[in-house]
Amino acid sequence: MSHSPPAAIRLRDLVRRFPGRGAATTALDGVSLDVAPGEVFGIVGRSGAGKSTLIRCVNLLERPDAGGVEVLGQDLLALDERGLREARRGIGMVFQHFNLLSSRSVAGNIAFPLEVAGIPRAEREARVRELLPLVGLDAKRDAFPAQLSGGQKQRVGIARALASRPRLLLCDEATSALDPETTGEILALLRRLRDALDLTVLLITHEMAVVKAVCDRVAVMQAGRIVEQGRVFDVFTRPQHDITRRFVAEVIGHAVPPGTLARLPPPDPGEVREVLQVLFAGPHSTRAVVSEASRRFNIDLNIVSGRIDEIGGEPFGLLALAAYGAPEALAAATAWMRELGLDVSAPDLAASPTTPAEPA
Ligand code: ADP
Repeated sequence: MSHSPPAAIRLRDLVRRFPGRGAATTALDGVSLDVAPGEVFGIVGRSGAGKSTLIRCVNLLERPDAGGVEVLGQDLLALDERGLREARRGIGMVFQHFNLLSSRSVAGNIAFPLEVAGIPRAEREARVRELLPLVGLDAKRDAFPAQLSGGQKQRVGIARALASRPRLLLCDEATSALDPETTGEILALLRRLRDALDLTVLLITHEMAVVKAVCDRVAVMQAGRIVEQGRVFDVFTRPQHDITRRFVAEVIGHAVPPGTLARLPPPDPGEVREVLQVLFAGPHSTRAVVSEASRRFNIDLNIVSGRIDEIGGEPFGLLALAAYGAPEALAAATAWMRELGLDVSAPDLAASPTTPAEPA
């Protein structure tokens, strides 16, 4: 068996409770997680799921009540204050609201952590000169935060997080205050930086679109636990948990537009009508399943809607079919499609994006 490299982040059975006036809140209820070096790993969950508490445990801004925190091969809980300060230099953090110093220029903000660490001026300035082009802010060196757009402010936040050459970047809802286009730019920047600097990135978000755009793997959190995790493509195309299905539906939508079912013609006497949602992923995504099923089982399949999308360069398709035929024929056709590896289900109209679920 080959040995895999040590995890960039290894969390074991983390528990964090916050005492309240009534019952205590269990923000983390036994969370274990491994993030491999070079990954962009996303934690997604509704507000209150425990994401912030979890990411803050990775640099011990939050101390877990129980469990293990290993980062870049180091047991952080075993370090003294000085050791922890040093370890934190290897961990950059990017915040939702940028947290820039308004009285300092772009260059001054980026250099700030180096100044705190006692790095000499010439070295700080050299590092800022390296970082500005990396985040596309060469022209804004002397601007102040108030003169910057949200996206530019976050670029400063990212450059500042990278100042001490960390190998791990933690992003706490880093794009949640930005519009969709700027969000896309910042996420693309994070991926480029990951590649250029050989970084590991752990990000938390309440938006599955962020996960789809930037992450390699994702963990879904609910009520202080990880309920599901895997490669982003797999989680999107085969969500297992209810909350995951709802998150996925927010991004890729559902195959059946609302109101469509009511407009479908009724079945002929002796026949039945079934609406099927078929998800194509992998080798069958281009296969002419519809015409072949129709021929083989003597049924009519009308395409109600369909779309093709891509995650991390892998295509998948989502198709809604209205199937008409003898009940046995429909059952046989459905079984045949499943044998091909397609995911066939009844459309989940309750979680359609036009009727978003209440945040937990
Ligand atoms: P998320 O980031 O997913 O929104 P949080 O980690 O912020 O979730 O919060 C998880 C739970 O822990 C919530 O119920 C929240 O109210 C509670 N919580 C978080 N931080 C504190 C704190 N400092 N004191 C008391 N309760 C807290």
